[in-house]
Amino acid sequence: MALIVQKYGGTSVGDVERIQGVAQRVARYKQAGHDVVVVVSAMSGETNRLMALGQAAGGEKPEARELDVLLASGEQVTIALLSMALGQIGISARSFLGDQVAVQTDFAFGKARIERIDTQKLSLTIEQGSVPVVAGFQGVNADGDITTLGRGGSDTSAVALAAALQADECEICTDVDGVYTADPRIINNARRLGQITFEEMLELASLGSKVLHPRSVEFAGRYKVPLRVLSTFQEGPGTLITMETDNMEQAIVSGIAHALDEAKITVAGVPDVPGIASKILGPIGRKNIEVDMILQNTGADGLTDFTFTVKRQDFAEALATLESVAKEIDAREISGDDAIAKVSIVGVGMRSHAGVATRMFDALAAENINIQMISTSEIKISVVVAERYMELAVRTLHAEFDLHDQAAAADA
Ligand code: ADP
Ligand code: ASP
Ligand code: MG
Repeated sequence: MALIVQKYGGTSVGDVERIQGVAQRVARYKQAGHDVVVVVSAMSGETNRLMALGQAAGGEKPEARELDVLLASGEQVTIALLSMALGQIGISARSFLGDQVAVQTDFAFGKARIERIDTQKLSLTIEQGSVPVVAGFQGVNADGDITTLGRGGSDTSAVALAAALQADECEICTDVDGVYTADPRIINNARRLGQITFEEMLELASLGSKVLHPRSVEFAGRYKVPLRVLSTFQEGPGTLITMETDNMEQAIVSGIAHALDEAKITVAGVPDVPGIASKILGPIGRKNIEVDMILQNTGADGLTDFTFTVKRQDFAEALATLESVAKEIDAREISGDDAIAKVSIVGVGMRSHAGVATRMFDALAAENINIQMISTSEIKISVVVAERYMELAVRTLHAEFDLHDQAAAADA
């Protein structure tokens, strides 16, 4: 008998029929003698719908506290519906909102971090033979205000609960049957990975693979929570996120991630003198705008170009912020481009193999894809390309590093 935390995403609870399907899946685990704690997302599309409503009423950036009250309501619906559906098939269940648990977070509305989870009520519910059904994506701060964890944050709720309850496994049940070498919506011969290291998964998630919320992987690594991604709709082993072991086959590249949520800003013709980076990025940082990649070209005639990327949602504010800065530092021009994509290859095997970057750049060059920016770390290489080349770039790199499903290729 094991204690298993299962998280069901938006598609898995997309309508009442699917919620009944989830109830049946939970029932099978209960019948096998396991204790189950369920975490659910809002119905698919619901969080977007609520966001649009919020913007209609409160402008493009609605008041953060009220937006969290609004967005958190999506999960309130699904915990109640799933608990009812479980009751209908004879499985005792109880719904819990984040503050009822309580999932304690910091004060950062919209991107709150979980600080502590009270397990008392959940443990009691489990002892009584019931299934706690917990609202994902939400928590409560020390003032008693509702907070949310950022888009896709239900994964993090589940892993944090699994860590707090010392569960035997955390299952992320979703609409794909595991983690693939690339987003299967783009690459139809992508291969499911039997296992992947926490380190690689953290890079993939942070670089745009939305199958797992980055912070959930971080938590799972830190608290050693066995984490598995698998399908809600079909049986199968899914993908296990594991610690790196000596005998693990070390692919040079394990997976490819892409992200379309960034924009690029160039401040051209700035004096190539000490302090320029801080003069440009300081005001951006003070507006709480996160900067990702940074590039400073070699100057000519004492002038240089300074380029960096921000999230698309912060693009307009970043440009506006720079207007006064540009005058102050006497820059020639500010330009921006939000039609960019970031494509990244990730693999622990890169540590021990030289020449991976060259192979990546050669493959992209052969397709005439212009690389606008590059950034690397020990186990990843990211490039920025024009958005219209995103799919071609992912496909090209997927083929270059032999990531396709061999069996599917043989069938075709
Ligand atoms: P949920 O609503 O269950 O949380 P998400 O939409 O957040 O589901 O995440 C699952 C989706 O992640 C898949 O449908 C898939 O399109 C996408 N995805 C992106 N990269 C990958 C990858 N490498 N492997 C599997 N799925 C991926
Ligand atoms: N419902 C939230 C969202 O759409 C949280 C989640 O699905 O994980 O982002
Ligand atoms: Mg998700």
